[in-house]
Amino acid sequence: MPFATIRKLPAAGERQPGLPEYETSRRGFRWEQARRELSFLPGGALNIAHEAVVRHARGGRGGQLALRWLGKDGACRDFSYRDLDEATGRFANLLRRLGIGRGEAVFSLLGRQPALYIAALGALRAGCVFSPLFAAFGPEPVLARVSRGHGRVLVTTEALYRKKVAPIMDRLPELRHILLVGGVAGNEGEESRLIDHDAALAREDAHFETAATQPQEPALLHFTSGTTGRPKGAIHVHEAVVAHHITGRYALDLRAGDVFWCTADPGWVTGTSYGIIAPLSIGATLIVDEAEYEPERWFDILTRERVNVWYTAPTAIRMMMKLGAKPAGGRTFPDLRFMASVGEPLNPEAVVWGLGAFGLPFHDNWWQTETGGIMIANYASMDIKPGSMGRPLPGIEAAIVTRSGDGHVAELNAPDTIGELALRAGWPSMFRGYLEEDERYRKCFDDGWYLTGDLATRDADGYFWFVGRSDDVIKSAGHLIGPFEVESALMEHDAVAEAAVIGLPDAIAGEIVKAYVVLKAGRLEDDALRKDILAHARRRLGPAVAPREVMFRRDLPRTRSGKIMRRLLKARELGLPEGDLSTLEGGAT
Ligand code: AMP
Repeated sequence: MPFATIRKLPAAGERQPGLPEYETSRRGFRWEQARRELSFLPGGALNIAHEAVVRHARGGRGGQLALRWLGKDGACRDFSYRDLDEATGRFANLLRRLGIGRGEAVFSLLGRQPALYIAALGALRAGCVFSPLFAAFGPEPVLARVSRGHGRVLVTTEALYRKKVAPIMDRLPELRHILLVGGVAGNEGEESRLIDHDAALAREDAHFETAATQPQEPALLHFTSGTTGRPKGAIHVHEAVVAHHITGRYALDLRAGDVFWCTADPGWVTGTSYGIIAPLSIGATLIVDEAEYEPERWFDILTRERVNVWYTAPTAIRMMMKLGAKPAGGRTFPDLRFMASVGEPLNPEAVVWGLGAFGLPFHDNWWQTETGGIMIANYASMDIKPGSMGRPLPGIEAAIVTRSGDGHVAELNAPDTIGELALRAGWPSMFRGYLEEDERYRKCFDDGWYLTGDLATRDADGYFWFVGRSDDVIKSAGHLIGPFEVESALMEHDAVAEAAVIGLPDAIAGEIVKAYVVLKAGRLEDDALRKDILAHARRRLGPAVAPREVMFRRDLPRTRSGKIMRRLLKARELGLPEGDLSTLEGGAT
């Protein structure tokens, strides 16, 4: 039984939603209109950090709260737009002093702390390319990304450095400087590349003339996972801010002066596009919580900080749903105006549950690292069909297609037909390449369409519905995990001959990672070894990526061409039909 449509929110007083009426806004929309909402720099230059910080700091919002940081232990630090202008100016000056040039890559490996936000915006001001990494990554994912991205500077803490970076330092010859937030507690002499971040910044001037970057100049590098090969580095340009800004207004209903809380970590594209850039470019106040999900803490933040717009993810929503229909007890959320969710399919039950728990439905929206910004959404001014991702943003043409293989795609226009979700190429936040992988990038496009790798349907009213991924990539608690990266780390264990990794459905995390392992001859399949392999994977990959379960097998099913048939492992695990086995190599069971 499908869930009933939830009627659009009534407009609060005189205030119209950012996207007042879907059809008319969409028809009349031109990207030019979105560009006009930004300031630009002289000569048509465009810099994300100028739009997010400097223009507000120097244009009447200097004293307004831009970022409120809530520490794990109850600490709180406030930054006005002027404070951010100065702090990011210092960081940009430091990069200059260190000889880091335009287009060179600055990485961060930090929890959600102010230094991360300052490094991101400071690097952009200097015209560098910024790439945020999850603090939960182990040494292998850090090495793969920093070396791939030719990182010149890494901003981290001493604790994270010791655990995750020190073991791989000799394999990062291009990395010139490591800035340690919170200082270097002695042993400076041990590694000449270490710099005390806090002391170095304190010596810099707060004034910096933001680099006059061109709209098509690279700005951000976000790594994402594919089924095969190493992680892909999706390159985004400064022009992306045009899409961040307008989608923040339309899809998240954000306005200047709003208090906005995006629970995503900047290590994931959402935490950068919407956890930093969109709200600041709009002139909102950003709440940054250092802690991980903890329901009481979250309800407190929503009420105490008077959050107006909240952007979170299905895994967290499902965890809250476990607490019942009214998890926040008698609390009310009078300031909360709009709630949105992204990253995984949002169960229709969750959309409806939001109404009882918070007095508002969750608005699901869809996008991915490559699209740089929200592409399909449920808007404040539109009825919600629970379980649907919504309709394409103004300026975005989405379709359900099938690839013909000869460089053409055919649109599947009949309602409710399953096909690949495609977007007409050319929106401002579209990725401009996979780092050093032109062929892989080219393969994402056909006939002027960008092919997303997701399967979906569109109904007769133009709403899109997620069906699944067309590849073996795993989505666990919002993290996209490439099986290949996990298999490679498993195979570094001295007992492992072969490994295959799949995602299994999980009520809370969406999927969990399960590994099948074939041992080397002579190694005994016992529990101690299984635990040792699990511990090895956690050490190498970090808890966000490592498998939850390891199972021994005598062999792995492969195609005749040698590819592991992960799909078959999954079908067998779940007792599903095994599908076409014509390419299965003989022998494997
Ligand atoms: P990432 O690049 O890590 O943000 O992951 C993007 C992928 O997450 C998409 O290609 C989808 O498979 C999935 N995804 C994102 N948003 C949604 C959504 N609203 N519903 C279903 N799947 C989603």
